Amino acid sequence: MSIAEIDLHSALKKYFGFSEFKGLQEEVIKNVVAGNNTFVIMPTGGGKSLCYQLPALIKEGTAIVVSPLIALMKNQVDAIRAVSEHEGVAHVLNSSLNKTEVKRVKDDITNGITKLLYVAPESLTKEEYVDFLRTVKISFMAVDEAHCISEWGHDFRPEYRNLKTIIKRIGDDIPIVGLTATATPKVQADILKSLGMPNAVTFKASFNRPNLYYEVRPKTKNVDADIIRFVKQNEGKSGIIYCLSRKRVEGLAQVLQVNGIKAVPYHAGLDAKTRVKHQDMFLMEDTDVVVATIAFGMGIDKPDVRFVIHHDIPKSIESYYQETGRAGRDGGEGHCLAYYAYKDIEKLEKFMAGKPVAEQEIGHALLQEVVAFAETSVSRRKFILHYFGEEFDNETGEGGDMDDNVRHPKKQVEAQDDVKM
Ligand code: ADP
Ligand code: MG
Repeated sequence: MSIAEIDLHSALKKYFGFSEFKGLQEEVIKNVVAGNNTFVIMPTGGGKSLCYQLPALIKEGTAIVVSPLIALMKNQVDAIRAVSEHEGVAHVLNSSLNKTEVKRVKDDITNGITKLLYVAPESLTKEEYVDFLRTVKISFMAVDEAHCISEWGHDFRPEYRNLKTIIKRIGDDIPIVGLTATATPKVQADILKSLGMPNAVTFKASFNRPNLYYEVRPKTKNVDADIIRFVKQNEGKSGIIYCLSRKRVEGLAQVLQVNGIKAVPYHAGLDAKTRVKHQDMFLMEDTDVVVATIAFGMGIDKPDVRFVIHHDIPKSIESYYQETGRAGRDGGEGHCLAYYAYKDIEKLEKFMAGKPVAEQEIGHALLQEVVAFAETSVSRRKFILHYFGEEFDNETGEGGDMDDNVRHPKKQVEAQDDVKM
């Protein structure tokens, strides 16, 4: 190991307590430390945060981290502070700070104490902040959840669109690090373009999840009974069941309970206390199943989720991948079962009706991919990875036989109430 590598390893140990880098982390970090524009594409849980946190801690100046989620920023700041000598090592700059607090943040930055400054994109549009940041040494700019910049991503945020202009105003030659778990080639191209870094060195980890088994079943009126049977066959195991609507969530949770299954509902219509309670029950294994809308899952880190069921098909392959990705984090079994009927696609199409035309077109195109996925007779894994721009060979690739179409090639999955297209 070179001196630089030893330094990186000792910093990894010192600040994060880890002995080894995960996946591409070390290469990414070297590239960020070298001051290059960097683009990092890794699945959720891949360890993207460290790719900017560690360089920020060892480089001169302050790194600005843009992230859309205030709760996650706070978590990261707390974690970094816990292992540093000075509380000012990391700060969040947002609209909730009073004058005194803002002054303290500015002082810490000016005095070279702050290595990581987290900002929500909308705060970064404030003249006052931009003017201040122009006057201090910025090591680099990290744009986390960079797919928010793209209308083709699953979480478009208009504030992200202005980032390039703002970065330019803060400093002309600030290196940019974009990070995302969205692997579609379209979104990637959008990110590179919008952040104005066509020359970025790109690091892309594989999105293959070899321990997950993918299965799609036609959705009939017996879907609830089918789910009950499945859950009973997997008694005592933890699972998530996603439904489209709050009403379905409540209904299905009740049906499961009546059938002797430990299940709780979770959706944004429940009050915060109930949500936290149900989430904790799941983490503490006081319940086996959470029936939820997509409101459930962000930041939930339960390693032994053994199944993820989609009662209703999601609106894009990316959503499907994210949601099924919550199964088998520990590397153990993870059964991903989706129910599909074409009329559910029509329902999703209807939801988009009031939206701007451009958004509808994108939504429609994403849904067509979902239809293709649900109706395909090729390997589900191959399909998903191809969607993410990755070639997969079922003969040689890990998990090559882990989907219904490979295991039972004769079965054609078709929605029973399919309509002419
Ligand atoms: P992402 O942003 O890619 O979804 P995170 O940065 O949140 O992933 O990291 C996911 C988990 O991996 C965290 O619990 C983190 O502590 C852990 N992690 C990151 N790097 C390492 C490492 N080198 N060794 C062990 N665990 C790691
Ligand atoms: Mg992350």
